[in-house]
Amino acid sequence: MISFYPGPSRVYEEVPKYVKEAYDKGVLSINHRSQAFMDIIKATNEEIKKKLLVPDDYSVFYVSSATECWEIIAESYDISSTQYYNGAFGEKWFEYTKKLKENTFGHHFHFEEELKLETVDKPSKGLICLTQNETSNGTQLSNPCIAAINNKYPDHLIAVDATSSMAGIKLDFNKADIWFASVQKCFGLPAGMAVMICSPRAIESAALNLHYNSLANIAQNMERLQTTHTPNVMGIYLLLKTMQESPSITTTEQVLKDRIEAYLEIISAKKTIKPMVGQSEVRSTTVLVVEGEEKIIGSIKAQAKESGLILGNGYGVWKNTTFRIANFPALKDKEVKLLLSFLKKNIQ
Ligand SMILES: *Cc1c(COP(=O)(O)O)cnc(C)c1O
Repeated sequence: MISFYPGPSRVYEEVPKYVKEAYDKGVLSINHRSQAFMDIIKATNEEIKKKLLVPDDYSVFYVSSATECWEIIAESYDISSTQYYNGAFGEKWFEYTKKLKENTFGHHFHFEEELKLETVDKPSKGLICLTQNETSNGTQLSNPCIAAINNKYPDHLIAVDATSSMAGIKLDFNKADIWFASVQKCFGLPAGMAVMICSPRAIESAALNLHYNSLANIAQNMERLQTTHTPNVMGIYLLLKTMQESPSITTTEQVLKDRIEAYLEIISAKKTIKPMVGQSEVRSTTVLVVEGEEKIIGSIKAQAKESGLILGNGYGVWKNTTFRIANFPALKDKEVKLLLSFLKKNIQ
């Protein structure tokens, strides 16, 4: 079975080899206060910065999930939070923040529209929270869109959920302060860890509260190559190994762009299904959502399964009228070709 589920998704096939290697080398039982651990975390930080083109002065942290990042952000700043969303993950982030912070504002925008912040009122300072890649409906905010927001609101801190795009497409890290992603999507790793990438400003302006998962506490620990808790050492090791084997993000992004074009070409020619997002400017590169009548979507998923291909179910309100295709780097060329030919042959 080949999984095209957009998370948890197909992991790199080298994962079992690296797990064995970690076991053999004693990494799985390593003391996280030891020099050996510090060497691993340092190498991982450097590899991530190199491959994903993260600015030198940004910091990389390892936490347990994207959802934890929502909570870390909500609890680390004594400022208002304004959240923009067009789908289920962005909305959930808003709901979670609202439970923790009084000054939380949410703005919904239509998924076919480009996000324009000037149409909504917001506090003159505070956090702007954006979902770069909305996994539920297959939309994304482009780098120029985030750059425009950054230019227009220089006094705001910008936090970006890039869970289903980081390590798949090139992100302009300079244009926002806090970026995060869990590793079971484009990183092609088992779930249970998230990568958080922060600007110096994000760390300087975090509240100086050193509770367990406050950003200040996480950052203070990382200055000494340490973590606030016994971390997912195996996850960090797998991240190091897979990143070392990965090409630069510009190469990966081109591969994914070519693949998404191939999917779109086939799907756009069909009568019974279509890409749910019509506007190419806002359509995601890493998650393709395909729409059709409930009966047709159901039968395509069943047929695909018989051919050894697992398509992702639709999400939230789009559960039964769409299926989703992960366009993540761990999928191999030959696997993508199998799905392309399945779609070409079996659908009207
Ligand atoms: C998957 C996903 C999450 C949640 O990730 P967890 O690892 O379950 O916390 C959050 N945001 C987006 C955009 C996602 O795709």
